[in-house]
Amino acid sequence: MPLITTNAALGSEHDHQCGSLLAELTLGSPIARDAALSLIRCPDEDLPELLAAARAAKERFKPGVATYSRKVFLPLTNLCRDYCGYCTFRRDPGDPGAHTMTPDEVLAVARAGEKLGCTEALFSLGDKPELLFSEMRETLRHLGYKSTLHYLEAMCELVLRETSLLPHPNPGLLSAEWIERLAAVSPSMGLMLETTNHALLRPGAAHDKAPDKVPAKRLRTIEEAGKRRVPFTTGLLIGIGETPEDRVDTLLAIRDLHDRYGHIQEVIVQNFRVKPAIPMAEWPEPSRGDMLRAVAVARLLLPGVNIQAPPNLNAPYYEELLDAGINDWGGISPLTPDYINPEKPWPHLEQLRLRTEAKGFQLRQRLPVYPEFVSAAMSRSGLLSEKLLAAVDPQGLARRSA
Ligand code: SF4
Repeated sequence: MPLITTNAALGSEHDHQCGSLLAELTLGSPIARDAALSLIRCPDEDLPELLAAARAAKERFKPGVATYSRKVFLPLTNLCRDYCGYCTFRRDPGDPGAHTMTPDEVLAVARAGEKLGCTEALFSLGDKPELLFSEMRETLRHLGYKSTLHYLEAMCELVLRETSLLPHPNPGLLSAEWIERLAAVSPSMGLMLETTNHALLRPGAAHDKAPDKVPAKRLRTIEEAGKRRVPFTTGLLIGIGETPEDRVDTLLAIRDLHDRYGHIQEVIVQNFRVKPAIPMAEWPEPSRGDMLRAVAVARLLLPGVNIQAPPNLNAPYYEELLDAGINDWGGISPLTPDYINPEKPWPHLEQLRLRTEAKGFQLRQRLPVYPEFVSAAMSRSGLLSEKLLAAVDPQGLARRSA
């Protein structure tokens, strides 16, 4: 597809440039880096115009609908070898709340979710905790597995075999071999790129003490998934110390991989929320305008990719995200809390439906794998294709739509 290019420069000329840039956007092509850099810094008075362009791009992509995935959240283990500055999820062994779920616990939550119409089992877990903690090695030995990834694979297979839920694992960095193995028991998987800014690894920054957050390593995992045509969810974090320019470059890195492999099923734009007792407790949160600009620019850089932003992190006015061009609300659980952001409850599904409809969109339940990627997932294994076939409707959405 041709790119819209401009010679827009950053600085005080923004006010005059955003309007003319937006006029060009009606062409509907993905915007180029220089245009994105100008738009992500556009002044507040240009925001309505930017949002209108993003919403129009969303409507060309998926008219009239917004989707969500009804899920259960399975925090398989909250032990993690990384120490990200914004994280409330992770624990060290012996910390209050440190826990690794047993197979019985996994199955109990999945079955309870099944009764509530859930179709996704989201596995979230710390990155390779056994490399740092002997306690985790002991837990895995007791459970009968060599590593956290071996245990995750078995739990995905258990949920797939015993319930109608489809697993979607988020286990951190993965080798090519582990992508293959997990893809046999889950139709899609995810890894947030978060940012391409290496400076966030410096002492005192958000990714100091987080060896798995090296951007090149995360890009490699996403690329390996692409080489294997595995439907993949990724995204960026807003407000962890990166600049607006970094946000554009992170989106461009994702776009580059998607252009090469076509496997990015979803890009999440997630805003940092401050919480007590995190190293970044005094950090400023991104503004509403920052978030709307980032979402709108994501839509315009990736006009043919599903863009998601979480409503619970954008309450109370989360429906504005629909104006900025998202077409998906992500996973919403009627059962389990958001263990990553436990102080921000998910909206009630009926509320979400009403607010989505008030913005002019029909709310539809999707599977963890998006409709355009169902056929890629179907070819992975007999058990997976059988379960997918039972779960999917003729439009590629959730058959038991609720
Ligand atoms: S954000 Fe993920 S990788 Fe970072 S500390 Fe938390 S669980 Fe670990």
